[in-house]
Amino acid sequence: MPSIILKPNKEHRLIAGHAWVYAGEIVKLTGDAVDGDAVDIRDHKERFLGRGLLNRKSQITVRRFTTQKEEFDRMFFKRRIVAANAYRSGDTYRMICSEGDQLPGLIVDRFGDKLVVQFLTLGIDQRKMVILEILQELFYPTAIIERSDVPSRKLEGLPETKGVIAGKLEGKTQITVGGVKFELDLLEDQKTGFFLDQAENYTAVAKHCAGKRVLDCFSYHGGFALFAGKAGAKTIESVEISDSAVARARVNAELNELTGKIEFQCANAFDVLKKGDAGKRQFDVIILDPPTFTRTKQNVADALRGYNEINLRALKMLPVGGMLATFSCSHHITADLLKDMVVNAAADARKTLRLVKMLTQAPDHPVLLGMPETEYLKGMLLQVI
Ligand code: SAH
Repeated sequence: MPSIILKPNKEHRLIAGHAWVYAGEIVKLTGDAVDGDAVDIRDHKERFLGRGLLNRKSQITVRRFTTQKEEFDRMFFKRRIVAANAYRSGDTYRMICSEGDQLPGLIVDRFGDKLVVQFLTLGIDQRKMVILEILQELFYPTAIIERSDVPSRKLEGLPETKGVIAGKLEGKTQITVGGVKFELDLLEDQKTGFFLDQAENYTAVAKHCAGKRVLDCFSYHGGFALFAGKAGAKTIESVEISDSAVARARVNAELNELTGKIEFQCANAFDVLKKGDAGKRQFDVIILDPPTFTRTKQNVADALRGYNEINLRALKMLPVGGMLATFSCSHHITADLLKDMVVNAAADARKTLRLVKMLTQAPDHPVLLGMPETEYLKGMLLQVI
């Protein structure tokens, strides 16, 4: 088996469970291997650290799939897929979550009888056919939709692509999550169609919404607002900048018999929060679930200023007893950074906060313990006391 040999001291992260080898950590490649092939990962004394797939076009040159000496044949992928699926239950969930399921580069979401897949790396893209066959053999989906229309494929030397790659997809899809109905357009919606990672947080926040005035900022298709509505909130405002997302949120409200209950605003949440604060408006529950403000380490300071601004304004609109659910989905913003940011915002807003609950991604997006990048969604449910 061809091997990549690491520079001295570059083995520690892998020994601690991380799955990536960066280009700058490699001394050499022994043997013949082309991009996409399986290679062994060895430390500078050539001790075996695992086996992964190679792509020299990518800064992440090898992604480790196993710490054992096993072949990456059909049976290997089948074992991995069966194990990933056995870890989940229900009929709508993330079935395979890349490194968290020891299948780097592969995402599979199950929406009832349909599967949505993303092939994010060259190695996994080359194995697309065998993965599709296994998925069909195990789950008999009525349709498999590929959503490899993600910019990060460029870093792997791959074009963006999407489409129905097996079976038939007719019109929109409806799913039920925690008793709430959502309409999905599996070919056009963001990512794979639904933010499954927030599923448990909808319920955690909704618990505090009965009889309350709720403001859901960065609402997308209305997730938090719809759950708040079902939980019997007194008033609900939903703020989202994309008009197509607002249109879908309205459809979802109708599906859940919440038409008229939720006030939808197609607006910039920064402006709405600024105005609300200036106008001394008050809410009992505010949700802040913005898109990632930074994709790089270099922009963390700017991103924190953005998070600080919205959190400060939200806190100012919360009376004693009010709740803030605040999130960051950037893996560069650690839980500690998020906490420090909120501590500063609370000090500026002159509010004392109680941590009701730490929030994170749903368990079908498993965290690989030795790999901080896999823990990307951080949130806190806080109460003003
Ligand atoms: N809370 C949502 C997911 C939010 S994703 C859910 O649970 O499904 C972030 C959303 O913020 C996207 O829909 C994006 O269109 C929207 N967005 C981005 N910038 C915004 C802004 N300045 N004001 C309001 N919405 C914004």
